[in-house]
Amino acid sequence: MVKVLTIASGKGGTGKTTVTINLGTMLAQYGKKTFIMDADIGMANVGLLIGLDNVPVTLHEVLAGKASIQEAIYDGPGGLKVIPSGISLQGFQEANPERLKDVLKDIVDRCDFLLIDAPAGISRDGVIPLAVADGVILVVNPELSSIVDALKTKILTEVVGGNVIGVIVNRTSPENTEYVVQKMEKVLGANVIGSIPDDPGVKKAAAAKTPIVLKYPLSDFSRSVKRIAAKLAGVQAAETAEVSSEKFVDRFARALFRGKR
Ligand code: ADP
Ligand code: MG
Repeated sequence: MVKVLTIASGKGGTGKTTVTINLGTMLAQYGKKTFIMDADIGMANVGLLIGLDNVPVTLHEVLAGKASIQEAIYDGPGGLKVIPSGISLQGFQEANPERLKDVLKDIVDRCDFLLIDAPAGISRDGVIPLAVADGVILVVNPELSSIVDALKTKILTEVVGGNVIGVIVNRTSPENTEYVVQKMEKVLGANVIGSIPDDPGVKKAAAAKTPIVLKYPLSDFSRSVKRIAAKLAGVQAAETAEVSSEKFVDRFARALFRGKR
């Protein structure tokens, strides 16, 4: 079973951190015990986006052998467990990415999913998350340069013994989605597991330090992330539709009979 998923891309800014936080929150909402880990230890940002940026123990201290992984796990939004990275350069210098594999062992036994937010580019700390995951998900923007970078990352993943299990196309527009998805599958030779539209709510949610799926649950962005989470969690699309229609029926009944009880 696929448990440890590394969210990667060729270059920075494609939406890895945004995807990690929102997909993680949705998996947790589906009742899956989910952890997200900020392995972008040079440019820590998961914590910044969900208000966990001032915590005493981070992945830096754990990778430096100064703290246990248990001490670096924090309660995030919607039942999500979060392992943030530190922002100090010194912590980063002392961190040994080789320790990541041992650290993961401790978490894997206790979770349904662990999403690892990987650093961009080809570096030592970038390659390890690609190799240790059960599967790598590439976050790609609908631009040629992003596809080329993703292809490089896919090859790199295979070289280090990892496995790309799918692609998420982020920041699509309604006009280009279908074309882009087809092109991605052809060029990258990997299955597109979902596309996520460009959405101005992403910036507002970041300012509010809240995942978009909680702040704007009915947006197209959130619906897209829910579909991807349902696929990964093995929740049937029909089941999710049922849940929402059930809720609708409940609401409808309540509205109708409110005055008669
Ligand atoms: P990465 O972690 O790959 O560097 P981020 O998740 O930090 O990328 O996203 C980079 C920038 O793009 C951020 O400013 C973020 O708000 C924005 N962004 C990401 N996804 C979307 C989206 N679907 N719609 C609008 N803006 C987005
Ligand atoms: Mg990031």
